Amino acid sequence: MSSEAEAPASVPVPEEEDSSQSISKKAAKKEAAKQEKLRRRQEAAAAAAVSSLSVDEEGPLANNYGDVPLNELQSVNKPDAGKWTVAVNGKEWTKVGELTESMKDQEVLIRGRVHTTRPVGSKLTFVVLRQRGFTVQCVLSQKPDSVSKQMVKFVSSLNRESFVDVIGVVSVPGGPIKGASQQVEVQVRKLYCIGKAVPNLPINIEDAARSEIEIEKALQEGEQLVRVNQDTRLNYRVLDIRTPANQGIFRIQSWVGTIFREFLLSEDFVEIHTPKLIAGSSEGGSAVFKLDYKGQPACLAQSPQLHKQMSICGDFGRVFEIGSVFRAEDSYTHRHLCEFTGLDVEMEINKHYSEVMDIVGRLFVTIFDKLNEKCKKDLEAVRKQYPFEPLKYKTETLRLPFEEGIQMLKDAGVEIDPLGDLNTEAERKLGQLVLEKYGTEFYILHRYPLAVRPFYTMPCEDNPLYSNSFDVFIRGEEIISGAQRVHVPEFLEERAQACGIDVKTISTYIDSFRYGAPPHGGFGVGLERVVMLFCGLNNIRKTSLYPRDPLRITP
Ligand code: ATP
Repeated sequence: MSSEAEAPASVPVPEEEDSSQSISKKAAKKEAAKQEKLRRRQEAAAAAAVSSLSVDEEGPLANNYGDVPLNELQSVNKPDAGKWTVAVNGKEWTKVGELTESMKDQEVLIRGRVHTTRPVGSKLTFVVLRQRGFTVQCVLSQKPDSVSKQMVKFVSSLNRESFVDVIGVVSVPGGPIKGASQQVEVQVRKLYCIGKAVPNLPINIEDAARSEIEIEKALQEGEQLVRVNQDTRLNYRVLDIRTPANQGIFRIQSWVGTIFREFLLSEDFVEIHTPKLIAGSSEGGSAVFKLDYKGQPACLAQSPQLHKQMSICGDFGRVFEIGSVFRAEDSYTHRHLCEFTGLDVEMEINKHYSEVMDIVGRLFVTIFDKLNEKCKKDLEAVRKQYPFEPLKYKTETLRLPFEEGIQMLKDAGVEIDPLGDLNTEAERKLGQLVLEKYGTEFYILHRYPLAVRPFYTMPCEDNPLYSNSFDVFIRGEEIISGAQRVHVPEFLEERAQACGIDVKTISTYIDSFRYGAPPHGGFGVGLERVVMLFCGLNNIRKTSLYPRDPLRITP
């Protein structure tokens, strides 16, 4: 019996093309249309055959397969004990990822999506079943006592991505199984469809999972494989996120949030939830999403800054939040979204803002260590489609004073304003220089010029041109902004005025510090940026499940 799960040939419909392609666009499109027509015709024929067969077949073998009617899946009490109910009754589902050679000859019940089907004549068919990133090859061959010819046809014509329950016996073939993660096969005895997918999917998972390297390699060999572009992926995100790389990305994202929370809880931080509906139509003056709040002007929070500082004034000592942050700026870049997940921290400071940087350093080294330890499979899945080098970081996080960073850039021939902000290009360059000199791709740049930071940033005691603030970088791109905040209301007013802000418009903020406030500081991190840069990805839309940007608010 064959032990190789082969995928059917890809339909060569290019979506983004390169002028260097060896086959002409026209020919490829024509071929694609032909293939697609053929595929549809075959699917229609198979579906027609199945619908007549499922009605036609009678006798005990007809109980071994079929579409499960809704009422069987609606109630645990199963008023109508149909064939699926009888078949699965008393059985436990085994996870596809847990199928191993030690289960040889055991009967198992598994659930998964139809990843591929490969009929071999009318009596034999192979189905690769996928469940949460794991795949197993199921074999169905006609047998007089259990598998009818009609059943083989039914299974052969299942639409890809449909959900099925399979009861079968685990077998161990002689050689390795190439197209499936599990190195066993399941000899199918019963198979029921519990969730049908439409016949023509807008995206094939195999196409969406393909790396650029594979596409380029095939092209050099004269074959044009489908390249699914970013917009198509996002339009059909429900399919796109089923690829192994995307499964990996969002499991890694989940871990970042979990490790962030666990670390801070263990350091005596309190998790808070601040409002995202904010009174007034501007928050700190920059672009916000305005809305009508029962007849009053309001907007969506562009940072939890005020409320996390108020919580420090409310005596929580150390707080953090994981929540949505809304930015209405028209930023059409690879790293800006209109809605992102903010990981925010605020804490009392005993002596110096370096206490905040201590937390940043230890927190992120813990996040990176644990991701490398717990997400090996996920990282591998991401790397397979989007190759990247593991992040280089040190146990002791480098803290580079801004002035030293400027000097490094100057020494490298970059023209730079010593009291201005760094642009994206300068940040990248500095990242490269830091890697060469200090061997790390994760570092803190601190003591920023006061003029480039928000009015509430505490100036440096020894030089008021600089501030007790910092940004943090991964692979030369910013992931964090943080600082000590001004907690003295009179000084805060002075600073606001110096920055040209009308104090009346921020009176709620300033008043929060009039009832006694401790010295404090904090920072804000963008979750999607952390995952993007840890995995060396080139676009933040890859690490946002349902991204919102200036041009997209669906799905
Ligand atoms: P940038 O300079 O990259 O626009 P920022 O200085 O506006 O960022 P902050 O407002 O200080 O950033 O936000 C803190 C962190 O939140 C950033 O370091 C980044 O990780 C994340 N972040 C900020 N704006 C966005 C955005 N539009 N989309 C995604 N993440 C963002």
